[in-house]
Amino acid sequence: MFAVRGPVVEIDLSALRHNYAVLDKRCAGRPVIAVVKADAYGHGAVAVALALEAAGVYSFGVAFLSEAVELRLAGIKKPVHVLFDSPNPEAIVRYALTPVVRNETDCRILSDYALSKNIRIKVHVDIDTGMGRLGFAYDECDDKLINLTVFKGIEVTGFMSHFSEADLHNRDFAQHQLDRFIEIREVVSQYYKGALWHFANSAAVLSLPASHFDAVRPGLMLYGCSPMVYQSDINCDGLKPVMTVKSRFVDIRKVSNGKSISYGRTFITKRDSLIGVLSVGYADGYPRMLSNIGRVIVNGKYAPIIGRVCMDLTMVDLTDISDFNENTEVTLIGSDGQCKITACDLAALSGTIPYEIVTSLGRNKNKKYLYQQHTN
Ligand SMILES: *Cc1c(COP(=O)(O)O)cnc(C)c1O
Repeated sequence: MFAVRGPVVEIDLSALRHNYAVLDKRCAGRPVIAVVKADAYGHGAVAVALALEAAGVYSFGVAFLSEAVELRLAGIKKPVHVLFDSPNPEAIVRYALTPVVRNETDCRILSDYALSKNIRIKVHVDIDTGMGRLGFAYDECDDKLINLTVFKGIEVTGFMSHFSEADLHNRDFAQHQLDRFIEIREVVSQYYKGALWHFANSAAVLSLPASHFDAVRPGLMLYGCSPMVYQSDINCDGLKPVMTVKSRFVDIRKVSNGKSISYGRTFITKRDSLIGVLSVGYADGYPRMLSNIGRVIVNGKYAPIIGRVCMDLTMVDLTDISDFNENTEVTLIGSDGQCKITACDLAALSGTIPYEIVTSLGRNKNKKYLYQQHTN
């Protein structure tokens, strides 16, 4: 047997359950719609959903139908909201899914099918309050939303909107979106008694309690990352990172003073050096932007990345580190001793957001699930 290429991604399901408990407390027990799109942000949608379902989550949000079907085939019983796909009524009914509708056409397709089968399909309705992506436009939707009652084959059981400034650095626009949603709710909710109104992503869960409404819809914070990359006024205390990423050495080499390292010769050794060659590169989702500025952890100490990150390999300077050998595990994201590297750290260094870091590294096939609970 050969090892699968790339780093090892460890998923700590006890940290996930812990984050869910933190969230549950913050939102005073409101229903939690756990967003598990993109393979649960690279953490593995099935394992994550099974753990959250056992922990008492209200429902799940996925982007596309195929993701919803994957959850059903794995035995997930709670409601699954299909956030982005155009409606496919046969599949929606067969797998008991809850589509999110964005216009009258979506409603008509679902309603006609349901009436032909003599059933009703539950739907949630997306309102565009400023995300500019999907949904009924906030400034011309009151009548349209009220008139959805003409589609007798659907039952509207929820209304949602989405914030466009995920980190809410300046909350003015988020507040506008919130005001728009509240106004619509005041006019429309009497026609849909019992419908669930939900808006809050992780950033809003953490920083905008007025957006919590009847349910919350977080993703990233469940995985223990802060959505606030560039600011720290938001209290994310108590969230534990769920994903750890480790790599191994393919070689450890002595290199003399004055030698160039990797493509473009962007690093020249300034002393006789000990250099570790790691089996991880940008093909594994490790950002090339980390060249010469990132670091890893070896035996509880930081080792700087030197030279360019390659497709499959990355070089680190081990000269100041002791007590390791070619079998020592190297931490790319995670903690070891006093040292810690988060997905947010890598995002800040490589000019992106933690979402992209975890979804990229999470595509690696080498996954280990820790603290899995076995339920019947
Ligand atoms: C991704 C997404 C979320 C979750 O966002 P986080 O920032 O990860 O909490 C919620 N709602 C919608 C519509 C989304 O696309």
